[in-house]
Amino acid sequence: MRITMIGTGYVGLVSGACLADFGHDVTCVDKDARKIELIHGGTMPIWEPGLEALVKSNMARGRLTFTTDLAEGAAEADAVFIAVGTPARRGDGHADLTYVYAAVRELAGALKGPVVVVTKSTVPVGTGDEIARILKEEGAPEGTSVASNPEFLREGAAIRDFKIPDRIVVGAEDQRSRDVMAEIYRPLFLNQAPLLFTGRRTAELTKYAANAFLAMKISFINEIADLCEAVGADVQDVARGIGLDNRIGSKFLHAGPGYGGSCFPKDTLALLKTAEDYGVRQRIVSTVVEVNDARKAQMAERVRDALGGSLDGKRVGLLGLTFKPNTDDMRDSPSIPLAQALMAGGAVVAAFDPVGREQAEPLLPGVQFAANAYAAAEGADALVIVTEWDEFRALDLGRMAKGMRGNALIDLRNIYDRETVERAGLTYRGVGRGTR
Ligand code: NAD
Repeated sequence: MRITMIGTGYVGLVSGACLADFGHDVTCVDKDARKIELIHGGTMPIWEPGLEALVKSNMARGRLTFTTDLAEGAAEADAVFIAVGTPARRGDGHADLTYVYAAVRELAGALKGPVVVVTKSTVPVGTGDEIARILKEEGAPEGTSVASNPEFLREGAAIRDFKIPDRIVVGAEDQRSRDVMAEIYRPLFLNQAPLLFTGRRTAELTKYAANAFLAMKISFINEIADLCEAVGADVQDVARGIGLDNRIGSKFLHAGPGYGGSCFPKDTLALLKTAEDYGVRQRIVSTVVEVNDARKAQMAERVRDALGGSLDGKRVGLLGLTFKPNTDDMRDSPSIPLAQALMAGGAVVAAFDPVGREQAEPLLPGVQFAANAYAAAEGADALVIVTEWDEFRALDLGRMAKGMRGNALIDLRNIYDRETVERAGLTYRGVGRGTR
């Protein structure tokens, strides 16, 4: 199959490279000339484990090409995927579909024959209908159809998630779309990855329901963590105790500083906006958003408490800034409100992130960026583990403690146990780990 991918970001680049690896001919298009230039020069515009080798090997085999010219990229395509961003719209939280619709209009004029236009971007219910309308209005070739194929990959494990997915959801309204999509995913179908065909609106909603449910699991365990602290229980054990129940499952039950990232915050808001537009209450998701916002805002208070009630003049080291490990993505990361609140309270903040510095620096003016974890701890009154990068799991805590001015370790990801930390001469505060 000849596939065009519009948007070469976290989703488009990974999806394009994986589809090429299955043997399809893929052209990735991005209007950001810098990204395309970087890739042509052998540098990945994002940090994702395994991506560089996958992209390079498929480029070398001639199956994966990159361009800024949509007309050139889409001329011979059987299917055109749209993987552009759909951030939260300022003001009302609705998904901003400007990039999607702009891409569709440009595409309509570039097509030489009928194709299947596939929305991989996360888009609200009814977007596929609107795309079909725009394509018609702009004179796209007769027979062009629109399918929804929401993406469920996770940054940091994106290649594995794309190649060995739990399921593939395809929303289509016509047989040609279903046939083309079945052919595209045939390599996975042979591996028994369930290919779930639904209506287009159902597929669109499925993506939001999935993310809202996962966000709910995180907020649930975060509230249970608060209760654990109050009653002297350990949330790690509670999570294990409930997670081993197959009906519940152990994933997304890690208490922490609240969810962030490029998906959950905006997708929960967009789901609520859709529900509001249709006059249907979504009390659970609405509460999840509220709980998470409050939680992120509350993290600086934990640091303040650990420092005896005042941040003024204190030095705080942050370990990890990206919203999760193994990505350079800083979108909506809990580290942002944390660092801002610490500085607003009068603290000096030093931070280290293994790969996120370039993305973090413009978002965190005033933060001092350190070259490694030990440098971030140097002279600090408190050290906060914000993102659970592997390299923070086996720090020489004795060395850390020696370099610090104070002795507070606040572990927002529960990667250490109290005894180990206390043995190194530091005080320990995890999340949801009551001491009674
Ligand atoms: P991203 O910002 O990394 O990438 C989007 C890319 O699209 C950018 O490079 C941008 O330059 C390009 N673009 C925008 N308009 C264009 C146009 N008209 N023509 C060509 N290129 C254009 O975004 P992302 O994180 O890859 O997310 C893309 C979509 O996938 C979003 O809807 C998101 O919700 C969804 N999604 C993301 C993830 C994730 O983990 N990042 C997972 C599942 C789904």
